[in-house]
Amino acid sequence: NVRAMDIKDHIRHVPDFPKPGILFYDISTLLAHAGAWRETVRQLADTIAPTHPDILVGIESRGFLVAAPLALALGCGFVMVRKHGKLPGPTVPYTYDLEYGSDTIEIQTDAIRPGQRVVVLDDLLATGGTLNAAIDLCRKVGGEVVAAACIIELNFLGGRQRIDVPVHSIVSYD
Ligand code: 5GP
Repeated sequence: NVRAMDIKDHIRHVPDFPKPGILFYDISTLLAHAGAWRETVRQLADTIAPTHPDILVGIESRGFLVAAPLALALGCGFVMVRKHGKLPGPTVPYTYDLEYGSDTIEIQTDAIRPGQRVVVLDDLLATGGTLNAAIDLCRKVGGEVVAAACIIELNFLGGRQRIDVPVHSIVSYD
């Protein structure tokens, strides 16, 4: 029964990546399993459909893998939020703090039409800094952000407290 499949069984835990002491939740194994990945996309689609989005935004790079198949399934446009310097033409940047240093992400200025309903997607919600930055970018170019969603949520980091739209996740860890 594909419906009942436990998606968690297909997420690999990699200790000490990318640094000692960090437990990394690896979705490579989920993507590589056709049935588990289909079920993941199906559950996300069921969750997001009621928000009636026009545009799904994926955050580079694993967020692309989540948002692109969902956009096809739901009949939405797909828009990329990328690391600095990757998108051609006029872009809007957002710089946010990391544990060490900072990171800048960007969106193309004309990527979203004013008033379009937007759902922002990533693979994993940790501290919420990345998702928060992407939501802000969508608003800067005129989008109405109606929800955010991810496959995995790390509850112990409290990321959803930083997000001011409804956040949906498929699996979570305490
Ligand atoms: P945050 O900004 O919420 O602290 O971190 C979330 C971002 O870092 C996401 O873009 C996500 O892809 C990446 N990330 C952080 N930790 C992990 C992890 O354990 N597994 C995966 N797949 N991505 C992670």
